[in-house]
Amino acid sequence: MSPGVDVATCIGCGCTDDCACFKDGKPCYWLAVDYDRGRGVCSECHDRLNEFGREYGDTGGR
Ligand SMILES: [Zn+2]
Ligand SMILES: [Zn+2]
Repeated sequence: MSPGVDVATCIGCGCTDDCACFKDGKPCYWLAVDYDRGRGVCSECHDRLNEFGREYGDTGGR
């Protein structure tokens, strides 16, 4: 089994678990994340969900 990675990077804005982007003083959260591949889509980049779904398959629901 591959251990994967601990930190995922947003495919839209490039924020990570360690360095989230902030809006109105609140950190973003993952709309979809795949720690095995180290990629995700954060709440600021919902328009990338389709792209993420095509590239990575299951987005984990919406
Ligand atoms: Zn983002
Ligand atoms: Zn973000």
